[in-house]
Amino acid sequence: MPSYSRPLVSKLPRVGTTIFTVMSRLAQEHGAINLSQGFPDFDCAPALRALVTKYINAGLNQYPPMAGVPRLREAVAEKVERLYGAAYDVEHEVTIVPGATYGIYTAMATLVRPGDEVMLFEPAYDSYAPAVEVHGGVPVYVQLTYPDYAIDWQAVQRAITPRTRAIIINTPNNPTASVFSAEDMRMLDGLLRDTDVVVVSDEVYEHIVFDGHQHQSVARIPGLADRSFIVSSFGKTYHVTGWKMGYVLAPRELMAEFRKVHQFNVFVANGPIQHALAEYMQDRDAYLSLAAFYQRKRDFFLKALAGSRFVPLPSRGTFFQNLRYDAVSDERDTDLAVRLTREHGVASIPVSVFYREPPAHKVLRFCFAKSEDTLARGAEILSRI
Ligand code: PMP
Ligand code: GLN
Repeated sequence: MPSYSRPLVSKLPRVGTTIFTVMSRLAQEHGAINLSQGFPDFDCAPALRALVTKYINAGLNQYPPMAGVPRLREAVAEKVERLYGAAYDVEHEVTIVPGATYGIYTAMATLVRPGDEVMLFEPAYDSYAPAVEVHGGVPVYVQLTYPDYAIDWQAVQRAITPRTRAIIINTPNNPTASVFSAEDMRMLDGLLRDTDVVVVSDEVYEHIVFDGHQHQSVARIPGLADRSFIVSSFGKTYHVTGWKMGYVLAPRELMAEFRKVHQFNVFVANGPIQHALAEYMQDRDAYLSLAAFYQRKRDFFLKALAGSRFVPLPSRGTFFQNLRYDAVSDERDTDLAVRLTREHGVASIPVSVFYREPPAHKVLRFCFAKSEDTLARGAEILSRI
């Protein structure tokens, strides 16, 4: 085996293996019901699979254009204009990327210089801070309030400095399942108006908003759209997290810089899948029905948990349900998540891992992108604890 013995200064000294990998592996080792890592345990639409096969068999197997297959960019732009009222130029302002993680990372590579500050909300999705730090940036955190995980806009205002290069927002939010209101977007717009801060808006769960509410995309507010990268993921929308496909929208000036990095970071995203997604996107119902689909799953899971000592926090979007466990245990959430997996056979994600310092509150995150059978079995175990 080769071994490296020279000095090596890690660019990410505090980073270990992601909690998603850790918990999914533990679930597998113990044969536990895996409600930890966010992915469906059911397959995508057969029609979508058939389209990928169709385009592979049609021989569309070489590099697609750097910005993405034009018909897919058109389908994305058309959807965004219809849903959020913003017109993005297909040629210059829409880029197809290999997943939202990549989109966020490449936006950071585009924007962040050593010493630049990037504002994050805590709890923060785990890929944000490393994407900032690996480029020499400094994450600056604003705490979401507990238990409603709302944004304290005064705290945001206080955290903006002349060094603030960007702010990463995420609605619907992972891991809190909270969503921005229209008022939140107006506050953000107002606060940033006299700054050069760029918004990176992670909207991967844009089609999964519950209880009749609307997704608040930054695209809806011209003042924000003018300063934002919007990042979304086909993985969430079409039940294909393993395909790693997404898109990025931004005004032409920002996107030109993004593409300079993109073309040397990956150059292009998978070609035949882009053709398949472009054709499949013509069926609007597939994404318009997603919120109701996941709301039924949320409600099914909650009903099955009705007699449990775990107490649900509101899930307003995403496919995650957070449960408080104050009445169950005094353990740290990281310990309880491991014990529940090993001893009881149900895996979850401890929410404290999305904080730098574990908070006092006791919350586990459960993914309900699962069949009713899986959810019923998971809830039954939790109800006995
Ligand atoms: N952002 C958030 C908030 C997510 O939850 C996820 C994935 N679970 C991603 C980004 C990454 O999406 P992708 O798999 O397309 O990289
Ligand atoms: N975003 C998914 C989650 O929150 C996991 C993605 C990953 O494993 N990196 O569970």
